[in-house]
Amino acid sequence: MSFPYDAPVSQTLFDRGSLVTPGGVNSPVRAFRAVGGTPRFMVSGTGPYLTDADGREYVDLVCSWGPMILGHSHPEVIAAVQEAVARGTSFGTPGEGEVALAEEIVARVEPVEQVRLVSSGTEATMSAIRLARGFTGRAKIVKFAGCYHGHVDALLAAAGSGVATFGLPDTPGVTGAQAGDTIVVPYNDLAAVRAAFAAQPGEIACVITEASPGNMGVVPPMDGFNAGLKEICAANGALYISDEVMTGFRTSKAGWFGIDGVRPDLMTFGKVMGGGFPAAAFGGRADVMAHLAPAGPVYQAGTLSGNPVATAAGLAQLRLLDDAAYAKVDAVSAQIRGLVSEALAKEGVAHTVQAASNMFSVFFTDRPVRNYEDAKQQEAFRFTAFFHSMLAQGVYLPPSAFESWFVSTAHDTRAVERIAAALPAAARAASEATA
Ligand code: PLP
Repeated sequence: MSFPYDAPVSQTLFDRGSLVTPGGVNSPVRAFRAVGGTPRFMVSGTGPYLTDADGREYVDLVCSWGPMILGHSHPEVIAAVQEAVARGTSFGTPGEGEVALAEEIVARVEPVEQVRLVSSGTEATMSAIRLARGFTGRAKIVKFAGCYHGHVDALLAAAGSGVATFGLPDTPGVTGAQAGDTIVVPYNDLAAVRAAFAAQPGEIACVITEASPGNMGVVPPMDGFNAGLKEICAANGALYISDEVMTGFRTSKAGWFGIDGVRPDLMTFGKVMGGGFPAAAFGGRADVMAHLAPAGPVYQAGTLSGNPVATAAGLAQLRLLDDAAYAKVDAVSAQIRGLVSEALAKEGVAHTVQAASNMFSVFFTDRPVRNYEDAKQQEAFRFTAFFHSMLAQGVYLPPSAFESWFVSTAHDTRAVERIAAALPAAARAASEATA
């Protein structure tokens, strides 16, 4: 397809980047390969807006893939960062900010009795899996097709996010040994989980699941699914790990746990808790966490873990996220979902908007999407046309049909009006698109 306008400065930067970086980007989905065209190089962000290197402003519906729940450059977060930076950027020693951030997480998320800070969601899930294996003395893990838990070797089997975007069945470089203990089952299918446990009695260390998946698009757990997982794990001496890297501190004050109340043994966090900086965490039952070094034998460490600038940003952001803030994000999300659906319906485009609290995505199919196989049935070519029309009109969507859209407290009436104004043409483009 042809693209409605070009972005010469971004294109130049992308050309330069492509010479020195594989694919020109430092994380695959950023490269626009699923939708085509020139990835926009952003230079600044304020509230709900991003400005690219060509000087064009966009309403941002990606929010850095979730973290920017207060919008860009929130004055109180920036002030906390500036204060922290002025004191130095890394000490390689414990610091008060880490304690305060850990206390905030423990206070918000009841099943988390102890927490360890790390620098990325990938590290958090990788470490949680290692801990589960160390604690249970078992090797096998169960994950769900379409769930993404970062680029951990053992968890890249049938993963969502970029792996889904590019339709990669498996990733070269992950050996049979690394993936051989991973059992992949369809999402929202408790019978498949029971069958996996029945087939490998006493061998499964844990089940890891996105608390409410957002990496195959938004596919919430069906009623009783998470509770069923917990029950199956408990009955079989395995740990239930809820990956809240995306949902944590976003879907409610206590993340998805605050919504479904199912108590995991271990949880992972990232994104929102870092306030736009590299900070993540895993935590849970104190008796399990006690197995972690230096308290216990399971090794885990990090030069920049609990970095003072990252913890200051995360803490400042979490402290601003009260009930009123979540009510605001939920309301604007509902409003945008309504507008998108209305515009697509007007053009007769088959679609399903699915939401998990304020996270949502639009599937170009009229059937409900319950798992990865369903998600793949959508007419993704319509998303491509929709995406480029929105982009040309100054609305920045995730450049893939398999990702969640994110909003913030900063998405105000003006931002929503700009989205509303762009939707009719985008819906028309989607309706006219051909495979
Ligand atoms: N887990 C989930 C549910 C995620 O959505 C992601 C990233 O999108 C990760 C883990 C990995 O986090 P990171 O990209 O910080 O390594």
